[in-house]
Amino acid sequence: MAQITFQNIWKRYPDGFEAVKDMSLDIRDGEFMILVGPSGCGKSTALRMVAGLEEITDGDLIIGGNRVNELAPRDRDIAMVFQNYALYPHMTVRENMGFALKLAKVPKSEIAGKVEQAADILELQDHLDRKPANLSGGQRQRVAMGRAIVRDPAAFLMDEPLSNLDAKLRVQMRTQVARIQHQLGTTMLYVTHDQTEAMTLGDRVAVMRSGVIQQVDTPKHLYASPDNLFVAGFIGSPAMNFVPARLEEGKLRLPFGDAPIPAGVKTDKREVIAGIRPEHFEDAAIDATGMRFTAKLDVVESMGSELYVYFEGGGEVPPSDQLDELAADTGVEEVPGAGSSVVARLDAASRAAAG
Ligand code: ATP
Repeated sequence: MAQITFQNIWKRYPDGFEAVKDMSLDIRDGEFMILVGPSGCGKSTALRMVAGLEEITDGDLIIGGNRVNELAPRDRDIAMVFQNYALYPHMTVRENMGFALKLAKVPKSEIAGKVEQAADILELQDHLDRKPANLSGGQRQRVAMGRAIVRDPAAFLMDEPLSNLDAKLRVQMRTQVARIQHQLGTTMLYVTHDQTEAMTLGDRVAVMRSGVIQQVDTPKHLYASPDNLFVAGFIGSPAMNFVPARLEEGKLRLPFGDAPIPAGVKTDKREVIAGIRPEHFEDAAIDATGMRFTAKLDVVESMGSELYVYFEGGGEVPPSDQLDELAADTGVEEVPGAGSSVVARLDAASRAAAG
């Protein structure tokens, strides 16, 4: 059993700063859990408390049914992979990967077997006799993961393990991390500030801000039903558009026109913020239903398979001084260049109100 449970955990640093506030989180056995949030939100501190590298100020940390607050890192049956890999430069890949087992006085033949097995999983067989200096960034990252795998721990802890890799390699390694975790079925707590990584890797994602967990949910649910504006704006790229709106006479009054109030909206407020995902704006040439308005294109970004446009609502969008620039994922292959105006539509049915 490698369930990890945070029960009302606090971390107060010696200078009084509260980096983690009353954190409760249940990571199930075999689950891939992501902690995501902006820089300084406390996610590394939370991870380091699980690793035993940071003292817990208050609350209980339970691993596999046991309270481990005072347990030394080596007795927690977990393996951590760091952002900077922390490989020993004078050792070969084979020695690096087997080192923890050697320290634990595991017999040589057993170490050799486990290293071979991990090298197979990680496709490092051809590099076992090289030193870290002679490896690529991606290979070094895999060695760091290999060191964790050979220990066959109850849980892996990873702190931004891919952030030193270039964009292409990061995507490749992301797939590998997911594959390895599925193959081994080991509980994973993975810290990142990258919402794309969080959304593609996690069984569930815990979004943190200023030491407080904002929402814990599956990626799909976080995207579709964010609990607050922070989560709504943090998850998704380009980010969700926030638009001032009024709840009036049973309708949601948007700058683009009136819409029915979306299901699930419960508020006494009249002035609200509506959240609209970029893909809910479209070129009206594709589909003339929904709310139509003129959009003046500021920037057009082609991502190959996707086309993003940033626009201002045109003359039909009255309070334009209150309206930030909006982003749309257009669903068409070509749009007129920046500076032109197009008739856009908003799909009223799929619009999400963020409260
Ligand atoms: P990043 O993505 O930048 O690594 P993070 O979310 O992982 O950020 P932490 O490293 O957990 O953030 O730090 C959380 C907060 O605690 C930050 O504001 C940081 O400045 C503060 N902090 C970290 N270590 C200490 C310390 N030893 N003393 C006081 N404050 C600290």
